[in-house]
Amino acid sequence: MNSEYAFIMKCKQKVLSSQKITAYEAKSLINISDESLQFLSDAANEITRKFNGNVIDVETLINAKKGTCPEDCSFCSQSAFYKTGIDIYKLLPAETIVKNAKIAKDNGVKSFCLVCAWRGPSEKDFEQICEIVKKVNSEVGIEVNCSLGFIDKKMAIRLKELHVRRYNHNLEAARSFFPKICTKHTYQERIDTNKIVKKVGLELCCGGIIGMGESRMQRLELGIDLSDLNPEECPINILVPQNGTPLELQTKLSLSEILRTIAVFRFLMPKTILKIAGGREVHLANEQEKVLLGGANGIITGGYLTIDGNTAQEDMQMISRIGLET
Ligand code: SF4
Repeated sequence: MNSEYAFIMKCKQKVLSSQKITAYEAKSLINISDESLQFLSDAANEITRKFNGNVIDVETLINAKKGTCPEDCSFCSQSAFYKTGIDIYKLLPAETIVKNAKIAKDNGVKSFCLVCAWRGPSEKDFEQICEIVKKVNSEVGIEVNCSLGFIDKKMAIRLKELHVRRYNHNLEAARSFFPKICTKHTYQERIDTNKIVKKVGLELCCGGIIGMGESRMQRLELGIDLSDLNPEECPINILVPQNGTPLELQTKLSLSEILRTIAVFRFLMPKTILKIAGGREVHLANEQEKVLLGGANGIITGGYLTIDGNTAQEDMQMISRIGLET
């Protein structure tokens, strides 16, 4: 254990002095014994505080268009390929979205993300989204982020002009695991969209889902690919198996796996907002504070795209209970 502690400290010092850890070091960190896991979490916490202070980034999502997606992501209850029984709807009216943005702002939430379940927006849909963004900007004044699937450079520039701050497009899984979870598009297409986002000067929000049956090394592979993209924000979802999807019987990840993954992602992306997203409440129950003291510095509050979550009030209380702020 002593040698593991010394190794964690050595890697921590490297990151604190703005050096990158190697892939080999990251592999040794993620394979640390359970006995040393608390040291790893504490070191990730120290890195988080040094580069990100005490602030937790709190965001609310709105599922602006739900279900009937033509893609076949095996974790997703919004895919038209699976009979999941979720309610479906077309793009919500602007008034509904503005109303939800106002509620988020009144709850002390800093950013509001418009999410749509489709491969990418049609020109008509995109024009509607632009009008919605303008309305939220002028009537609410909350930071707006978007997650609209594949977009081209023209669309990305337009979003930037409309003062969208951040664009979300997750890698979802490691390159080596991706073909097992999706056959309708490629990993490279996802990388390419992320590069467009960066190129036009939008902030990038790019993360993935853990617990889909990938190996620990594939989780690390995802972390390394994500760090190569250098996103401003990285959401980490923990799979909540959805009825009717190919992953409905997937076994749960242990707390130890979740904590070691988040900690190592922090070592790999010291300055990124590491946001613990879908699955937080389901998997972590009374242990949610551990991830915010073990590398994560962001949450999504008020529920997710197809599952409920904590209320904003509950989350704000949790954040102040552990001495952090929003
Ligand atoms: S994850 Fe996105 S692209 Fe994949 S099926 Fe769900 S909504 Fe469609």
